[in-house]
Amino acid sequence: MNDDQLLRYSRHILLPEIGVEGQEAILGARALIVGAGGLGSPAAMYLAAAGVGTLVLADDDTVDLTNLQRQILHSAEGVGRLKVESGRDTLHRLNPLARVETRALRLQGEALEAEVAAADVVLDCSDNFATRHAINRACARHARPLISGAAIRFDGQISVFDLRQREAPCYHCLFPEGEDVEEVRCAVMGVFAPLTGIVGATQAAEALKLLSGCGTTLDGRLLLLDSLGMNWRSVSFGRDPACPVCAERARAQT
Ligand SMILES: [Zn+2]
Repeated sequence: MNDDQLLRYSRHILLPEIGVEGQEAILGARALIVGAGGLGSPAAMYLAAAGVGTLVLADDDTVDLTNLQRQILHSAEGVGRLKVESGRDTLHRLNPLARVETRALRLQGEALEAEVAAADVVLDCSDNFATRHAINRACARHARPLISGAAIRFDGQISVFDLRQREAPCYHCLFPEGEDVEEVRCAVMGVFAPLTGIVGATQAAEALKLLSGCGTTLDGRLLLLDSLGMNWRSVSFGRDPACPVCAERARAQT
């Protein structure tokens, strides 16, 4: 680290749990953030400010006036622009040292596989089950830690799937695909603005802990927030023996 970096990141370096070594791991890391909306905004901003070396921001959408109530990566002059470009400009203003790569597309197939394989940590900040399951499968295949967040109305949830660990449960273990879960989206249901900030910032916290190796993550726990009553609770969960994604992982590992 040079003098500028030592000053910029001094409040992390002062934490014995992170220190110079942890900060250097953060500086050398590459994080994939899928979705530059309500969750991706605070997640990307904290990761950029905290010095994550390379941020890959993926989103195919453009900024809409209705986004500005919560998607703090974007501002009024960004309406109509690609979210990844508006987001990259905001992140550069926050921290010119952070490298930001943009992917103005809905990551899927080989592009998703390649980005997940290249990342040290993956943040799922998307808003639909198809994308969540595709990201989970790619993270399982490439043994990458996945930090998942969701926010709708006043309800938020966060979990970590540390798929570097052989026995760690995956997203599919917790939310099996194809079960008739009703897809509720912010576009129709509404979402409390700071809820997305709380969930996205928590995802950033878990990512920084994973990268620097400090603390205990939410691996194997689902953290649930009811922001209307401001009640938090956490539920432990394990691997589903019938999970097809984990079955494929197990086969690949043997
Ligand atoms: Zn599984």
